[in-house]
Amino acid sequence: MIEPTIFELSSPGRTGVTFPQADVPAFDLPEADLLRGDLPLPELAEVDVVRHYMALSKYNYSVDGGFYPLGSCTMKYNPKINEDTCRLPGFLHTHPLQPIETVQGNLALMFEMQEWLKEISGFAAVTLQPAAGAHGEFTGVLMMRAYHQSRGDAKRVKMLIPDAAHGTNPASSGLVGFSVVTIPSDARGNVDLDALKAQCDDTVAGMMLTNPNTLGLFDEHIEKVIGLVHGCGGLMYADGANLNALLGIVRPGDLGFDVMHFNLHKTFAVPHGGGGPGSGPVGVAEKLADFLPTPLVGIIEEADDENPPLYGFVTPKHTIGRMKAFHGHFGGGVVRAYTYIAMHGGEGLKDISQYAVLNANYLKARLEKTYRVPFDRTCMHEFVMEGRFEGTDIRALDIAKRLMDYDFHPPTNYFPLIVHEALMIEPTETENKDTLDRFADTLIAIAEEAKTNPEIIKTAPHSTPFGRMDEVKAAKELVLCCWLPEEQ
Ligand SMILES: *Cc1c(COP(=O)(O)O)cnc(C)c1O
Repeated sequence: MIEPTIFELSSPGRTGVTFPQADVPAFDLPEADLLRGDLPLPELAEVDVVRHYMALSKYNYSVDGGFYPLGSCTMKYNPKINEDTCRLPGFLHTHPLQPIETVQGNLALMFEMQEWLKEISGFAAVTLQPAAGAHGEFTGVLMMRAYHQSRGDAKRVKMLIPDAAHGTNPASSGLVGFSVVTIPSDARGNVDLDALKAQCDDTVAGMMLTNPNTLGLFDEHIEKVIGLVHGCGGLMYADGANLNALLGIVRPGDLGFDVMHFNLHKTFAVPHGGGGPGSGPVGVAEKLADFLPTPLVGIIEEADDENPPLYGFVTPKHTIGRMKAFHGHFGGGVVRAYTYIAMHGGEGLKDISQYAVLNANYLKARLEKTYRVPFDRTCMHEFVMEGRFEGTDIRALDIAKRLMDYDFHPPTNYFPLIVHEALMIEPTETENKDTLDRFADTLIAIAEEAKTNPEIIKTAPHSTPFGRMDEVKAAKELVLCCWLPEEQ
């Protein structure tokens, strides 16, 4: 049933508020002709309002409500202790313009977070400023441009990007002014080395690579790819969105990447989607460290026998400037992710990636007899299968919608673009075997329905407040307001 609007629930004279005693002097109202005679606000009791918004909140699917295998998005469970720490008064009630002497704890946390992210990734320096992954990409690509310009190397205009890449990679490169050259994948889902060689010349600014890529595959020639790009003077950008597969196992900096963004809201359990904010710190190798955004958190007075170190702000020598007001998403992003890292420690982080990879391979093994997995190798933290069956016209979209009837969030679909009818499944490490089995059983049951009752899949979902949408119409004729007061 569709919940009535709060205006439709209104009944004249009902009220849900009692105003407290005024703590400011009473003020005479302006002239009567400047005042409205009436204000058509809904009139409801407190309990009506609570029930209304509670009902609306249940329209949304959430990680706290059920399994959310949305590939590439790393929708892991967000531990609730993160909510306690980010609301500690010392974090919550500080202002970014306070004198540094009064916020030493916050600065120490930011400094330590920079150090931890360096250690996790193998990079020489880290900024916490960018607001999300895509903003981190933009920051990283600006630094790549600044690096080439600082060497007087002005002819590097090409950014190489594999065809499996997330759309933000070409978008970020384009915003900085590079022209994007797409590099195809080979039959095993790696970067096609011959195609890469053909593009490697002195106009290459760099390459943006996601590893493991969006097929969930670790590039088998990663060192050759990096060697080729470095060999022609380009820089290597790592899209760190898939870092959940690598924690404690592989450090992108050690592989030879020059710059990488982290998605704290994916890898390090910061709520995202409606629950934001995102946070996209960027790590860089030594040769890019001088170009980082300003300011970074640094130690401006070393500790001595009597005093702890004094933390403050430092500006890299050739900084690209400021990427964000103040210091990034401190409380909602950095403090939550810091808590998560501190809770797990080094060994715990390694467990996270190992279980994430195990869970994805388990699901793949259970499903690959029923669904075609086009690049069939041991996967990392996610895998991509085809949502179609021989002899039927069922599509990935239909399967995604039908899953909602079984109370699962659909996987990512139609991405990456190089797989027909792609369903991209990322279970994350936080799901247990029962949930994975229930999900696999459901997908296998849907494949059976495709033979016996395809109509029920094609018309799904049947159990949600709204049924199958015309997604083009919904995007092109967006109605953001469904109720307007009647003309008075
Ligand atoms: C999520 C994602 C991004 C973009 O990150 P945001 O934090 O959503 O801006 C980029 N690349 C890949 C592979 C991603 O999965």
